[in-house]
Parts: sequence; C-alpha cells; structure tokens
Amino acid sequence: MTNIRAEEIEIGVDDGHGLAPLTPGKRTPFIQSIGRFIPENEFNKAVAAYLIAELKRCGFKVVETAPGDADHSLASRVKRANDAKVDLFISIHYNALDGKFDGPGKDPEGFSAHIDPSGGQSEVFAKIALKHLAKGTVQKNRGVVKQQLYVTANTKMPAVLFELGFMDNNREALLMIDKSFQQECAQEIAMAVCEFYKVPYITAQKPQTIKPPASLVKLGTAKMLRDVPVYGSAKFGTQTGARLKKGDVRHIYAINRGWYQLFSGEFIPSNYGKNFDFEPIPSKKPEPPKVAPKPAEEKSIGTKDKLRRVIVDGKRIGSFGDEENLERNVLQALKKDFKKIEVEDV
Ligand SMILES: [Zn+2]
Repeated sequence: MTNIRAEEIEIGVDDGHGLAPLTPGKRTPFIQSIGRFIPENEFNKAVAAYLIAELKRCGFKVVETAPGDADHSLASRVKRANDAKVDLFISIHYNALDGKFDGPGKDPEGFSAHIDPSGGQSEVFAKIALKHLAKGTVQKNRGVVKQQLYVTANTKMPAVLFELGFMDNNREALLMIDKSFQQECAQEIAMAVCEFYKVPYITAQKPQTIKPPASLVKLGTAKMLRDVPVYGSAKFGTQTGARLKKGDVRHIYAINRGWYQLFSGEFIPSNYGKNFDFEPIPSKKPEPPKVAPKPAEEKSIGTKDKLRRVIVDGKRIGSFGDEENLERNVLQALKKDFKKIEVEDV
C-alpha cells in the first residue's frame, strides 16, 4: 500500500445543531451551580473548532459542513460533505436521554460512536476513535452504535457521529464547558484520524518564549543627520516604510558592510552620503573611579583645595569636596546610560 499524505485527504467536520434557537432537547437542564443552561452546540462548536485546528496542523484539508452559529439543516450538512467529496465525515454531538438530572449514579453517562448499520470503514474509524477517547477523561465507553441517522446514512463517505457525553448527567454536563475536556476530545479524534490514515500525528507546539535581547551588545550610537529610511534586512529594496527623523538617536547592535542594525533588528545604511554620525562605545566600560581613602586627619570638610569634579560623557555633573557626596553622584551617574565617567581634581 502506498503511503498517503495528510495533504491529500479532506475531512468534513460537522458541529451538531446551532446555537439558536435553543431547543429544549438540545441543551442541558438548568444548572444551578453556573446559573444557566448549556446549549449542546456550545460544546459541539468548540470541539469542532479545536478539531479543525488539530487536523490542519497534521496537514489535512478540512471542510466545515455547518459554519457559523446558525443551525443548518441536516440536508445542507450532508450536501456540503458530498459536494466537497470529503474522505471522512465527523459529526460532534452531546447526548441526552430524558433531559433531567436524576442525581449521582442515576443518569446515563459516557461517549459513543454512531455509524450506519452497513459498518465498513465507518466502523473501522469509529473503533479507532473510541480507543483514543477512552484514554482521556474517565467516562463510560458506550461503544459503537449502529443506527439509522440522517447524516451518517446520507453521506457518501465513511461517517461517524460522536456523542461525547450526556447533557442530562450533571457531571458530564459541566464537562461541556471545560476547555481542557473540549481540547482533549478534539485531540483524541484527530489522533484517530491520523491512525486511520496512517499519517503521523503532529503535536501542538508549545508557545515560544521570546528571550530578552540580553545577548545584544551595543556597539555605539547613531545620530541621524537627515531623515533615514529603515530597511528590513541589510540590503537595498527592503525598506519597511519607516523612517528615522533627523536628530533621532539610535543604539546600534551590529555593523556589517555599511549596514547598521537597530535594536528592533532592522537596518539603516551608512552609505549614500552621510546619513548619520556614529559614535562607538569604548570596548570596555570604565571602572567606577576608586575613591582613595583619606587619612583621618585630612577629613576636614569643605577644604576648597580637595574639590573633585565628576564629568559624565563630557558633561560636568558637579564638584564635590565631600567623599560621600562624590561617591553618591558617581553611583547615580553609573545607573544611567553613559560612555565615560571622569573624576578630576579641581
Ligand atoms: Zn446532538
């Protein structure tokens, strides 16, 4: 048998019913703990959306047979699947028996896979899916149910209608609005689709954490001498549309053949005339000036001949006769962005 690729397979995904109108048989009984009914479609739609994402991630093509919130007729759902000639039809539902909560242990429970009595590939897929569904949240496995249902009888491809729990079971009703349960059902059905077609199931990627650009080393500062266009990469023709204005100052993190990289990762070119003045940062930050301890007898305060001046990047911060005062001002300057700190005797 030749290997099938997921890209060659199209899956019809059907979320049973619609959100409105909220027909009594298609919602939970009133649930005191949350103060509302849960429409069946609220669950069906959520699982279908997760399932579609799962299937697409695995490479399958997907046709939604009942898009949007409105209810679609059974005939239109079947027609969409048949017109698109999908390879497999999956319908998501939640079961109900009598529409009442009868108390713990008294309500029906569990999941089931409903197929046309003719069985065939529908039955093969249904059994694989039940195997996966049984691995998740602990629920009763009600097995394959062969019965005449409109959508499974009239679709021309293998078709399975899943009832993933009971709306009139208090515990399972609350599972309907549990996002992890919804995702789990979708994932288990997607795994079953992959197994059915013998294609690899691709797990969801964990969201990537964006690392702070701590490794970036600032090489210097560029001050724009005129408006300078910003480039997406270090070549002409990649303008982003953004422009730095004359007078803007930007730190530069890499220099490569006339292209200067900004913190954002974008570039400005130094050629084509003079776009900016670049002032490199000295390769090593200056050591904080050591303040030599004074002999005790010289600790007389205010002696004008002991004044020392602090200069940060050429700018005079002040002159101080008192050691503590001097130290405090130097430390303050160190917290800021600086290139050079000098302390000189006045
Ligand atoms: Zn239903």
